[in-house]
Amino acid sequence: MCTHFYPPVLPRPRLTGYCAPVDEGQLTIALRIAKVRTQIAAACERTLRPISSVQLLAVSKTKSEAAIREAYAAGQRDFGENYVQEMVAKAAALADLPDLRLHLIGPLQRNKVKQVLPIAALIHTVDRETLADEIQKRAEALGRVVPVLIEVNVGGELSKAGCTPDDAERLADHVRACKNLSLRGLMTIPPDTDDRDRTRGYFAALRDLRDKIGNLPDLSMGMSHDFEIAIEEGATIVRVGTAIFGSRS
Ligand SMILES: *Cc1c(COP(=O)(O)O)cnc(C)c1O
Repeated sequence: MCTHFYPPVLPRPRLTGYCAPVDEGQLTIALRIAKVRTQIAAACERTLRPISSVQLLAVSKTKSEAAIREAYAAGQRDFGENYVQEMVAKAAALADLPDLRLHLIGPLQRNKVKQVLPIAALIHTVDRETLADEIQKRAEALGRVVPVLIEVNVGGELSKAGCTPDDAERLADHVRACKNLSLRGLMTIPPDTDDRDRTRGYFAALRDLRDKIGNLPDLSMGMSHDFEIAIEEGATIVRVGTAIFGSRS
């Protein structure tokens, strides 16, 4: 029988399970993208949708070329820009990145169509016939077919662009009659509210409109604060800026 006195062996602190509080502002763009992708996957799982049915659009407006390159290095390929001038400059500066796709998600004036057509993978903001006609004219001259979405103002806010839900069907017919435009779906920016149920209602309204018009694969809806709800309501493209690149000053 051993009677020696052994000094107690203290267990080493287990560091593997320890998580320091994360300062969201300190996360790298790559980590933020990974986090958003995890949230997208979880929302898809909840609603029994394949993950491949949701496309993440990284909204890089006002953010630097370096930030876009960082996201690109993390595997991100689709980026959303709001201002034509900025988008044109970035397209030139990032021309060395193969299969980078820039989407226009901001309002489009007719006199900017010519500049945007050669660099836009998808235009999310067609909201009137005169704009569709201008895109048609320029696209025909380029010998291209341009994919577009119709922007719908689901909340009926005076401050927002987009056609009314009532006008969407007629505008869809008009766009479909433009042979150099390919109508892919609908886009919306719902009213800013903390009421998640209201937000969900706006997303559901856009989906119902899409179903009513028929034969439209895409629904571009959901931003940093509500993209999970948007996915639950059928979004195929979520436009996420702040959650990837941090706040805009
Ligand atoms: C800025 C912007 C976004 C991204 O908004 P976040 O809240 O930063 O995710 C999405 N869609 C449109 C149309 C925008 O202008």
